Amino acid sequence: MEKVCQSCGMPMAEEELFGSNADGSKNEEYCKYCFVNGSFGKDETLEEMISTCIPFMVEEGKTEEKAKGILESTLPQLKRWKK
Ligand SMILES: [Zn+2]
Repeated sequence: MEKVCQSCGMPMAEEELFGSNADGSKNEEYCKYCFVNGSFGKDETLEEMISTCIPFMVEEGKTEEKAKGILESTLPQLKRWKK
């Protein structure tokens, strides 16, 4: 199965997109934009993450409303946001 970042939901088809652990090894759960050197680059809330992701999905041709709906239903399932 395709790996997706467990923070932002971005598909990680290539190893280059994996985040990095504090010891420099790859972190396969989070992408390089979210997780660098063993920590999340930004201390965001789920709502902030959704707002951050919307423009990228709009760029892919979705409406803002549609993008928000998708993010609101998928991001809470990810490891970082699961309660
Ligand atoms: Zn990510």
